[in-house]
Amino acid sequence: MLRTVRAGKETITYELVQTARSSLELRALPDGLRLFAPKRYPLRQADAFVVQRADWIRQAQARLNAYRDREAERFPMTEGMEVPLEGERWTLRLEKAARRSARFEEGVILLSGPDISPDAVREQLRDALFERAKERIAQRLDHYMPLIGRRPGRVTIREQRTKWGSCSSQGNLNFNWKLIMAPPEALDYVVIHELCHLYEFNHSPKFWERVARYQPDYAVWRDFLRSGWVHPYN
Ligand SMILES: [Zn+2]
Repeated sequence: MLRTVRAGKETITYELVQTARSSLELRALPDGLRLFAPKRYPLRQADAFVVQRADWIRQAQARLNAYRDREAERFPMTEGMEVPLEGERWTLRLEKAARRSARFEEGVILLSGPDISPDAVREQLRDALFERAKERIAQRLDHYMPLIGRRPGRVTIREQRTKWGSCSSQGNLNFNWKLIMAPPEALDYVVIHELCHLYEFNHSPKFWERVARYQPDYAVWRDFLRSGWVHPYN
């Protein structure tokens, strides 16, 4: 639920997300401000909580903007830019064309389309990487499912802000599309990890033993993904 409040001269818009939880948590995310609150939390108190944190919100948003500017400089979405993909550095090539298309060939990502401005390229590149992630994750699941011997329910590829993958109690798996930018071994690690949760719904020693059967050096890739390895495309 989107809500707008006034804090002095400012208006602040935030999304109220009510879930089964007992405390409030305010997060400044690239796509907006979100307040996580318990179910049936009084709206007036939620608004007041946000208003009280107006200074913090301003600082958090300034940090996000600075981050975005730095990223725009590092990843200008122009011809020749380097794109991390499957653990390698690929080169971006742009071409004006009537129709949008994306090709991946020998270290080159060729994007064609009517609009090759940085904003359009950012979106097109993201779509192309997302599609590639979907294909690659499906392939790796097909590879590991018979070895591991369990089939998941639904498999969804999406953007997750803080997770590389997850497994629900119903056996549905989620994967973060940004895994496509990591080395293939790191992507495999997440696929194996989530499939192993279909046996052990925890991170017990037994769980890790099972993961190690399919990827003996899994700890390297687990640590790699935990190390704050940054993915540039928001
Ligand atoms: Zn896990």
